[in-house]
Amino acid sequence: ENRSWFDRLKDGLSKTSANLNIFGTVMLDDDLYDELEMALLTSDAGIEATEQLLYDLREKVGRERLSRPEDIRNALRELLTDMLKPLEKRLEIGRHQPLVMMIAGVNGAGKTTTIGKLARHLQAHGQTVLLAAGDTFRAAAREQLAIWGDRNQITVIAQESGDPAAVAFDAVQSAKAKGIDVVMVDTAGRLPTQLHLMEELKKVQRVIGKGETSAPHEVLLVIDGNTGQNALAQVRAFDEALTLTGLIVTKLDGTAKGGILAAIAKVRPIPVYFIGVGEKIEDLQPFVAEEFTRALLN
Ligand code: GDP
Repeated sequence: ENRSWFDRLKDGLSKTSANLNIFGTVMLDDDLYDELEMALLTSDAGIEATEQLLYDLREKVGRERLSRPEDIRNALRELLTDMLKPLEKRLEIGRHQPLVMMIAGVNGAGKTTTIGKLARHLQAHGQTVLLAAGDTFRAAAREQLAIWGDRNQITVIAQESGDPAAVAFDAVQSAKAKGIDVVMVDTAGRLPTQLHLMEELKKVQRVIGKGETSAPHEVLLVIDGNTGQNALAQVRAFDEALTLTGLIVTKLDGTAKGGILAAIAKVRPIPVYFIGVGEKIEDLQPFVAEEFTRALLN
């Protein structure tokens, strides 16, 4: 299919849009704001972002004397863009050699897929990439990553031993020796019950720092955009443990919870480097607030 990723994002957000695009169906009175409030909350924008958007919209509508439905929709789009703008950030490569990125996320969030897409994206931009199979608790994950690495000429460092911190340390050493540009350290998304995931991840982070001062340079969390407020809870928990430098929000193709980005912007404004809008390689796209709101409120 030839549809652009933007069309996929637009279609993907249509479940969210369907709720939000009430302009013209409701009169410009308290009903409109009530309906909008419901729609924003249903999209998992959260109370804080919803209240701010409604407050600002009422104010703007009054000040600019807006009454046509499309003007009000455009006003909301502008306000939402302003709210999301601080989340925009480009991933800067080349600041360190190697640049070490630790990638976290609960199982099923789309972490493995995203690492694959990102590795290929970096390769396409002339970067050499090395992966550390740090999810040593899922043997299948490690094997999958190794096969994938073979197919794409990307070195994957894995160990039978099962200490993720050791795998990460080895990977960084190996990258330094080989002059590799970017190291991506995959991590576990769930552990056998007795162990505490956050403690394990903090250890990986600490040990990476012993192998390379100031590393990891990026600590990224992959979240499933479909899980809305649940994803926000994950952002909070991982940020408290690891101090995240960025987010990647997957599965925005097909979610009714596209408002989650507003909640993130309002509650935990951690940069969103990329969004996932499908399972293909080109479906990992930089987050651009204006594009996102254009896809959402069209
Ligand atoms: P992990 O457990 O976090 O490593 O998750 P996976 O990478 O295995 O992904 C879980 C499922 O989500 C797989 O079926 C992926 O193809 C799918 N997936 C990942 N990212 C996206 C996305 O942006 N859009 C869609 N539609 N599916 C995705």
